[in-house]
Amino acid sequence: MRVEFSYLAKQFEGCEDIIEAIRKVVQRGDFTLGKEVREFEEKFAALCGTKFAIGVNSGTDALFLSLKALGIKEGDEVITAPNSFIATIGAIIACGAKPVFVDVNDEYLIDANKIEGAIGKKTRAIIPVHLTGNPCDMPAITSIAQKHNLSVIEDACQAVSAFLNGRFVGSFGDAAAFSLHPLKNLNVWGDGGVITTSSEEICKNLLLLRNHGLADRNICQLFGYNSRLSTVQAAVALAVLKNLDGITQKRIARAIFYDKNLANIPEITIPPRAVNKSQVFHLYIVMAQKRDELLEWLLKQGVDAKIHYPIPLHLQPASRYLGYKKGDFPVCEKQAELIISLPAHQYLTEDEQEYVVDTIRKFYQNRR
Ligand SMILES: *Cc1c(COP(=O)(O)O)cnc(C)c1O
Repeated sequence: MRVEFSYLAKQFEGCEDIIEAIRKVVQRGDFTLGKEVREFEEKFAALCGTKFAIGVNSGTDALFLSLKALGIKEGDEVITAPNSFIATIGAIIACGAKPVFVDVNDEYLIDANKIEGAIGKKTRAIIPVHLTGNPCDMPAITSIAQKHNLSVIEDACQAVSAFLNGRFVGSFGDAAAFSLHPLKNLNVWGDGGVITTSSEEICKNLLLLRNHGLADRNICQLFGYNSRLSTVQAAVALAVLKNLDGITQKRIARAIFYDKNLANIPEITIPPRAVNKSQVFHLYIVMAQKRDELLEWLLKQGVDAKIHYPIPLHLQPASRYLGYKKGDFPVCEKQAELIISLPAHQYLTEDEQEYVVDTIRKFYQNRR
C-alpha cells in the first residue's frame, strides 16, 4: 500500500465549478482587486469573527505587511517560537527587525510562561504561531502584550477555522496572518494570503501597503508594496471556502483515529489535547522514539511521513548572526529530534490509516 502525504490531485479532480469561476474572471478581465477579492475578504472576516480581512499575495506577506502596518522597523525585536516555518522569521527580518525566540511547551506552542523573560527595551511585538492548527494560549499572550504595550500578530497560516474558548483564531491579535498556499487547509492554485483585523486604522494601512501605498489611481499616500491577492486566486478561495467545514471535520476525524489507535504504543507520545479548543490539524504530529529509523521504515513501507520541522529556526545557518546556539531552547530541540508528521489529510481512508498504525506498531515490535 502507498499512503500519500499530498492530496492535491484528488482535491481538484472534479473542479468544473472552479474553472467556471475563473472563466468569469477572465471574461471580465478583472484580474487585480476584482469583485471576488472583496467577496472573499467579506466571507473570510465573517468566518474569523473580525471586522476586516485583507487579501494579499501570500502568508509570508500577510505577516510582513501586518508587522509593517503595526510600525515594526529596523532595530525592533519581535518575540516568536523557534519551531515554526522559516517564513515567520523571514517576515520579521524583512522589516529590519530581530526575531527573539521563546521555547515551546508540550503542545509544540510558544510557552506563554517564558515570554516575559524575553521582553526587553526593544521588544515591540509577539508572533504566536498556531502550529499544526492548534491555537496558542491567547488569553495569556494578549494579557502579557497589554501589560508591556506590545502588538500581537497571530501566525495563523496553519490554523484557519481553529478556535479557543469559542473564539476563532485570527480574532485575538491586533492582526493575524493566514496562508492560502496549496498545502494549507484553505488552499488556492498558487500563492495567496489574507490578514484579519478589527482595527479600522490597521485595515486602512494594510489596504495601502498591499497596493503601492496608492489611495487612488494617482495619489501615493506612503511607499508600499505590490502584494495583492489575485482575483483568479480569490475565485478559487471562494470555491474551496464552501467545503472548508467538511475539510476541517474530516481532518479532525483523522486525528481522533490516530490519537485513539496510537495511544497504546508506548514509544509514541501524543501531545495533550486541551478540551477548551478545536484544532484543525493542518499537520498531525506525534513524538516517536527512534524517530529517524521509524521514518526510514515508514517510507520503505510506502507511508509518506515527514518532519515539520527538523531544524529549529535558531539553528538554521542563516540565523547564525542572531547569536543563538544549541541548548538555548531545550524543549524545542528535543522535539525536533522526536517529531514525525503522519499523513492526515481529508482524503485518507480508514484502511490507509490502519495501515499507518500497523506499520508503526510492527516497527517497534521488532525492536523491543
Ligand atoms: C505556510 C506558512 C507560512 C507562509 O505562508 P506562505 O503562504 O507559504 O507564504 C508562514 N507561517 C507558517 C507557520 C506557515 O505554515
